Amino acid sequence: MSCIFCDISEGKAAADFIFKDGDVFAIRDVHPAAPTHILIIPRKHVASLAEMEWVADTNLVSKMVATAVDVARKVSISERGYRLVWNCRADGGQTVSHIHLHLLGGRQMKWPPG
Ligand code: AMP
Repeated sequence: MSCIFCDISEGKAAADFIFKDGDVFAIRDVHPAAPTHILIIPRKHVASLAEMEWVADTNLVSKMVATAVDVARKVSISERGYRLVWNCRADGGQTVSHIHLHLLGGRQMKWPPG
């Protein structure tokens, strides 16, 4: 099964990278839902949060959150604030079956989300 985020991770598809290391990378979302919309993605393919191996992958989830916090500072949205979103499976609104954390900022967020 092809996976666009695996393709980006392996350099087979283009993306606008903000950060990358051996475990995770951060790219600008192609269809931004806010002035700043960045995805933090692990290089390891895991279909959704529901498929995570919680003992083995706990450090990876922590690293994704820490990366989002660092990237928010780097793109200057940290002071005003931002939202982190995980969509999980169909009812959660997930459209790409490779886990990713949305970093959204640059405008006032609404609550509850749609
Ligand atoms: P979700 O709906 O939570 O699965 O989020 C998937 C996100 O990936 C959407 O916001 C898409 O706009 C975004 N997306 C899909 N393909 C790409 C791509 N090639 N490069 C950057 N973002 C993408």
